[in-house]
Amino acid sequence: MKPPVAATAYVNLDSLRYNLTKVKTKVGKSKITTIVKANGYGHGAAAVAQALESTSDSFGVARLEEALELRRVGISKPILLLEGFFDDSDLPIIQANNLHTAVHCEEQLLALEQAQLAAPIEVWLKIDTGMHRLGVRPEQLEEFLTRLKACSNVAKPLHYISHFGCADELDNPATMEQIELFTQLAEAGCERSIAASSGILAWPDSHLEWVRPGIILYGVSPFEAQNAESMGFKPVMSLKSHLIAIRDVKAGESVGYSATWTAERDTKIGVIAIGYGDGYPRTAPNGTPVVINGRRVPLVGRVSMDMLTVDLGCNSQDQVGNEAILWGEGLPAEEIANRIGTIAYELVTKLTGRVVMIYQEEHNE
Ligand SMILES: *Cc1c(COP(=O)(O)O)cnc(C)c1O
Repeated sequence: MKPPVAATAYVNLDSLRYNLTKVKTKVGKSKITTIVKANGYGHGAAAVAQALESTSDSFGVARLEEALELRRVGISKPILLLEGFFDDSDLPIIQANNLHTAVHCEEQLLALEQAQLAAPIEVWLKIDTGMHRLGVRPEQLEEFLTRLKACSNVAKPLHYISHFGCADELDNPATMEQIELFTQLAEAGCERSIAASSGILAWPDSHLEWVRPGIILYGVSPFEAQNAESMGFKPVMSLKSHLIAIRDVKAGESVGYSATWTAERDTKIGVIAIGYGDGYPRTAPNGTPVVINGRRVPLVGRVSMDMLTVDLGCNSQDQVGNEAILWGEGLPAEEIANRIGTIAYELVTKLTGRVVMIYQEEHNE
């Protein structure tokens, strides 16, 4: 089959499985909640969950609809709503689909107390241990515990969850303080979870009973200074397209919208069929690397909606139809993100529906 010419995200399911196995070795006995929110960080939540269901203990999502999609494609492991539910009417759906919910606020507590449910729901009480985004403050904890324990819609025992604000900063003392507060506040003997990817990789004291890896499973690092490949993980997504034109540009001529780049010498410009309409960031500056025929060439000129341009050099032997790698194999998404001033989390989750997804695997389990 001829590969599609335009933007294609190749997702390597063997690398995904490899990364989960590597996480498992790091965390030992801790159980794994694989995070597949935002369409599996842009990799396709259903495909990711299906590939990992046999080795993951549960899944985590941010929206009820994301959980229901997993149930529709046959995922039967527990699914945790990381932010809980947003409306009282979600509760019967949560119960009927055997979902776990976080509870982080008074409104959710009240809704649980007032609901008429066919069976109790598994609840993860979210404690704010210092990030101050979501969660019950330490001084509210006693009241929440009393009411949750008295609530017949809540399965017992309770579980405890919290989240780090700065675990990607290896010398930030806030993380140990959060771990200490969390282990003080969460009841002994209950299941507890605070570590996402950076906790898993950098803070072994945070592993506890459950870990919640997201980005590292996709072969992308949670740290600014270290890419995932250098830590032994494999990139899962390779974003590729093809050259659709190769053009001569003379010294002194500019390329693209607003003429933001001018050739200093006669050269060949390659036009690649991918742009911000596919999710490649428009903010990528001149010099952002693209791999063509095994070498890095610089992006030049503005990224357009459907195309971008690179300087192939005057001696280029490249041909129309040759492949271009925007990130992935040999070109970490972390490096592209650094150039642009964002994080690779944003790059992979922002691909648009126009990008064709192709799943690759050598073995079938
Ligand atoms: C997104 C998220 C995770 C996963 O974070 P990564 O940094 O991608 O590993 C874990 N827990 C919660 C509550 C999250 O929102």
